[in-house]
Amino acid sequence: MSSGPATHGKGYGISDTKNYQDFTIKEFKLKTPEPSDVTLSIECCGVCGSDVHTITGGWGPLSDDWICPGHEIVGKVTHVGDAVTEFKVGQRVGVGAQVFACLKCDRCKNDNENYCPEQVDTYNSPYPDGVMAQGGYSTVIRANERFVFAIPDAIKSEDAAPMLCAGLTVFSPLVRNGTGPGKTVGIVGVGGLGHFAVQFAKALGAKVIVFSHSANKKDDSFKLGANEFVLTSDKEFEKPYFDKLDFILSAADAAKIPLKELLSMLKIGGKLVSVGLPDEPWSDMSPSLMNPNASCISSTHIGSKKEVNAMLKLAAEKGVKPILHDIIPMSKAAEAIESVKTNKVRYRYVLKQDLE
Ligand SMILES: [Zn+2]
Ligand SMILES: [Zn+2]
Repeated sequence: MSSGPATHGKGYGISDTKNYQDFTIKEFKLKTPEPSDVTLSIECCGVCGSDVHTITGGWGPLSDDWICPGHEIVGKVTHVGDAVTEFKVGQRVGVGAQVFACLKCDRCKNDNENYCPEQVDTYNSPYPDGVMAQGGYSTVIRANERFVFAIPDAIKSEDAAPMLCAGLTVFSPLVRNGTGPGKTVGIVGVGGLGHFAVQFAKALGAKVIVFSHSANKKDDSFKLGANEFVLTSDKEFEKPYFDKLDFILSAADAAKIPLKELLSMLKIGGKLVSVGLPDEPWSDMSPSLMNPNASCISSTHIGSKKEVNAMLKLAAEKGVKPILHDIIPMSKAAEAIESVKTNKVRYRYVLKQDLE
């Protein structure tokens, strides 16, 4: 008989949003095992902007007295429940920013489990039975197989990890808004999310125009596949693009973006989706920004499993991968967090397992 799944994990976490650099190692209880669960030992984990927003309290107070962040996880399956059909022990898999949904509601049944009202985030979020979900700066994680993804052989673990939140967060709105041949897509902000958005928009076949407030992102933008680069600090930058854009994806994590100018470039009924979720609300939102062209503003939440699988397949085929700032041991998580917080990261940190 095989042994049961792990009951506990060990990870790096924080207890106080004011001292968010003070990571301590703690043991924590894993999700109560169920027949459709997959347990994996963690090899590496990306450092996402969400980790910073959460542990600094930008998105609100912590849900527990100690939380372990991290939701760009790659590892090896160590246990599968009796009802698991998709995975085998030893297989390389990943987990992103969601670990649970009801799987019964209309949203779950229609590949919108990322919008299920009963969803549980990968960390800082309790399961229905009260057990806290803890993230990937740790040794082990367990999730329903719907939230576990096979990693194609062609993608290295450290390249796959950041795709599972940052990549998916941009891939889903790009695909759902028809990004493809014949379409012109604007990408605002080239950071952790934006640098994937440029690559995926290109890989999907669209013409890609990058809008950035910093000239020092120009070379990288072209390397990532942009057709054009526009500095938003230039006066009237939007004028040459009037009525030219089918879709705009904003990955800018900022309280203020040039909304009026950006929206003016959209075709009739065109949409701007912001996947950047700044701590502060946009203060300059007004219907008058949208009525000249019936444009729309929206936001989206990660993506579905169907989209993860499509993204990983496309990434493997087209060679989409993150630009990694560095790969460092998990014990140095605070260093990566500070670099993301102060906007120095180019473009993603990956933490490598160093706990036993
Ligand atoms: Zn549901
Ligand atoms: Zn994330």
